[in-house]
Amino acid sequence: MQYGNMNQKSVSKVASLFTLGCAVFIFISATNLEAREAISPLKQETPHKVLNEKRIEAVLQEAYTKFKDNNEGKNADYIKALAVVDPQIFGITLVTAEGKVYEAGDTKALVSIQSISKVFTAAKVMQEKGDTFLQEKIGVNATGLAFNSIMAIEQHSGSASNPFVNAGAIQSTSWVEAKDSDERWMKIKANMDAFSGRELPFNEEVYHSEVNDNKRNQAISKLLDAYGRMGSDPLEATTVYTKQCSVNISSHDLGVMGATFANDGINPLTHTKVLDVQYVPRVLAVMATAGLYDNAGDWLYLTGTPAKSGVGGGILAIVPGKMGIGVVSPPLDKYGNSVRGQQAAAYIIEQLGLNPFAQ
Ligand code: GLN
Repeated sequence: MQYGNMNQKSVSKVASLFTLGCAVFIFISATNLEAREAISPLKQETPHKVLNEKRIEAVLQEAYTKFKDNNEGKNADYIKALAVVDPQIFGITLVTAEGKVYEAGDTKALVSIQSISKVFTAAKVMQEKGDTFLQEKIGVNATGLAFNSIMAIEQHSGSASNPFVNAGAIQSTSWVEAKDSDERWMKIKANMDAFSGRELPFNEEVYHSEVNDNKRNQAISKLLDAYGRMGSDPLEATTVYTKQCSVNISSHDLGVMGATFANDGINPLTHTKVLDVQYVPRVLAVMATAGLYDNAGDWLYLTGTPAKSGVGGGILAIVPGKMGIGVVSPPLDKYGNSVRGQQAAAYIIEQLGLNPFAQ
């Protein structure tokens, strides 16, 4: 009995100690949580990080209104047909990895894809020959020089450095497996069509304007050939490269093409698998390193996103695993990157808290 009584006492003592312990634990945890929240700038500074449809729509519209009257920059004119494209065109499209589409402005207006095509042809080469081939044969380092630099090739022992400068892009084109240049072109075009989910139109005017005036690219291809780096005839490859640059796209197309990368290489609208998932991070890494040419560092510093621009005025930024953002606006800055394209994409990334380095 006594024994039982004593036992009851100690049980109630233990119970009250336990209750006290729990209270102390809860208090300490709560204080800790508060402290952690206090030192987490992401939580404090981006309460709007929770993405919802209304917020995305509002931010796209804000980006359009905020930058539409900015007339800085100038259309490319070294390709004559680009100089006469309407500089007012301004379209913004965001496509999520699930295939939801958000748009503002002239999202159906077409410009030539130009250098953004380099991304898809490099992806094709990886798909056919593997990522080691691309790294060893073409390279994945920034040049720090203009996209059509010949000096960059000489400085890097005859290497193009990466597939997103003209040298590396002409090289990628030359390595796409085909029996002749017609088949090579058809494969490259079909690949871009699959990324966008539709048969992209071809801009004859831009093609003729550039193909009759691309002596510098021809020289680049010959130089690379002299270093033994081309996979097919250099001048033929330059012509196919010029064709791939002359494909027309809208901001809508760019958004879908970007979302295909964000969705592990599967087009989220057509559900077609376009690229093996293991190559997606490789392509995005080169975009981060060299997508905006000699301004790639500033872009990454600002947005943290892999992106690619073209002198037609298109820009494609990708938030890995989440979405593609396509913007079209022809006037360019001194590096050859769309002025309003960069502004709009950077604004959206910042406002929606999408910088991958800030997750
Ligand atoms: N077709 C253009 C050229 O070869 C592409 C350049 C670009 O978009 N940066 O010069």
